[in-house]
Amino acid sequence: MIKVAHLAFLLFRVPFFRKNEALKSMAKYIFVTGGVTSSLGKGIIAASLAKLLQARGISATIQKFDPYINVDPGTLNPYEHGECYVTEDGAETDLDLGHYERFLSTPTSQANNVTTGRIYQTVINKERAGEFLGKTVQVVPHITDEIKRRMMLLGVEGKYDVVITEIGGTVGDIESTPFIETVRQIQWELPVDDVMVVHLTLIPYLNAAKELKTKPTQHSVRMLSETGVHPDVIVCRTEHPLNDEIKRKIALFCNVKAGNVIESLDASTIYEVPLLMLKEQLDLIVLKKLNIQKFNEPDLTKWNIFLDKLKHPKSTVNIRLIGKYIELQDAYKSILESFIHAGAMNEVKVNVVNVHSENLTPENVNEQLSGLDGLLVAPGFGNRGIEGKIIAVQFARENKLPFFGICLGMQMAVIEYARNVMGLKGAHSVEMDPNTSHPVIDMMEEQKRITMKGGTMRLGSYPCTISKDTLAYKIYVTSEISERHRHRYEFNNAYLKAFTDAGLLNSGNNPATGLVEIVELPQHPFFIGVQYHPELKSTVEHPAPLFVHFIEAAKKYAAQKK
Ligand code: GLN
Repeated sequence: MIKVAHLAFLLFRVPFFRKNEALKSMAKYIFVTGGVTSSLGKGIIAASLAKLLQARGISATIQKFDPYINVDPGTLNPYEHGECYVTEDGAETDLDLGHYERFLSTPTSQANNVTTGRIYQTVINKERAGEFLGKTVQVVPHITDEIKRRMMLLGVEGKYDVVITEIGGTVGDIESTPFIETVRQIQWELPVDDVMVVHLTLIPYLNAAKELKTKPTQHSVRMLSETGVHPDVIVCRTEHPLNDEIKRKIALFCNVKAGNVIESLDASTIYEVPLLMLKEQLDLIVLKKLNIQKFNEPDLTKWNIFLDKLKHPKSTVNIRLIGKYIELQDAYKSILESFIHAGAMNEVKVNVVNVHSENLTPENVNEQLSGLDGLLVAPGFGNRGIEGKIIAVQFARENKLPFFGICLGMQMAVIEYARNVMGLKGAHSVEMDPNTSHPVIDMMEEQKRITMKGGTMRLGSYPCTISKDTLAYKIYVTSEISERHRHRYEFNNAYLKAFTDAGLLNSGNNPATGLVEIVELPQHPFFIGVQYHPELKSTVEHPAPLFVHFIEAAKKYAAQKK
């Protein structure tokens, strides 16, 4: 028998008996978990669902909780984790946040991406400050309370009707256990129609048996249920349509409502997934479960126009992307998506071929870069492949080929001009050559005292003033813009006059510091380099103007060749 003292102890210790202030929320919560395997596209399903809700007049935001220990992905090699996406407020985040923004056209922030590392950092800092008043600090309730606070955060302000949380990793991973436990607590504490769980799984097709298999899904739902979390909807990734019988079987064995098992067929483009989910009525299932009664017919007019143009290009342009992480598509995710947006705008298919800058030499450049209509030199860090990038810039400049340099790509354009036009032998960035005789790219003053790596670059949105009668002005059609950054080095203004005199025009600057943000070549049909990352703000409904004009220039170049 439980003694009274034991009961009192339990009441005091077990978290769900304690009142939690954060749970007074205005929003409803949807959690998206993944089963069977990683890379099923939880981010795309979350973004598609949010898009459908938005199209029905419901305001939604999406956040991602990642189980790894890094405080953020800023220090991760792109080979490990793909591109590091940067938000307006300067958070270095998971690339899924890029999808959220591209689908919704609303900015995310630091609060939209949380890792285990950040949770522990907060709790440990509190412990060091003595805020736990002598208590033993534990995963439950202290870590889960902090996860809960952050999971609910975006919903408490009243800004959103729905907060969608994507839980990184796969159900069953040791690392994601505290996140799933927190979902259980939230599901337990909130009214039933304020919270729901969407579980994304894989239905593999066995070619030998010519059969779709449901067992892995059954196992993953069982594993999720063992932790006390029960899915309301199961979204099945599949290469073949699921018939009613299979859907019924999954529903029965996984204990969800018959209509709540839906298929997510492989799509030719991620931008089609919202329409596939609309067809499967995922939005209506969600609205019903969350008891949301006020909503409109979905307005996807702009989205459909974009998709139509994307699927029916009138011609093709060939772009070379010169970078050093080309083996991994995800490393340049936002750039590749920006090309898709800009291609649709121009009604062309953008065929992007990645070229490893390490493989470019003065001897093979003509052959390697032949037959293309535009050249983009990608962002990056470190010395590897640098000379190849400079060779590529020279090729584009001399052959009047449309050129677009982003961040490191802009810095390479500056170095190339210094060396090959201005005759500044050995000109370089101090990032690659600290002892260069001509440091045309130098470390930013405020960076010189920084020793820590994580979150210390010049990050996030900064204004830029554009001079009239320039290519940049023609592109943006305004003199005041703001774009996102992620860099430590900058154009060295000690050389500004020499560059201007030699014909490289500085057309955009930070109004407060004078930092060079844009350079261009007036004598060239399209040659522009920017210190910032325009790809981070390109969305389906608002493609980045620089990409749109670059592709337009490539289209013209292609037409002239004919
Ligand atoms: N490595 C360069 C810098 O830090 C460029 C960074 C980038 O391309 N994002 O300035």
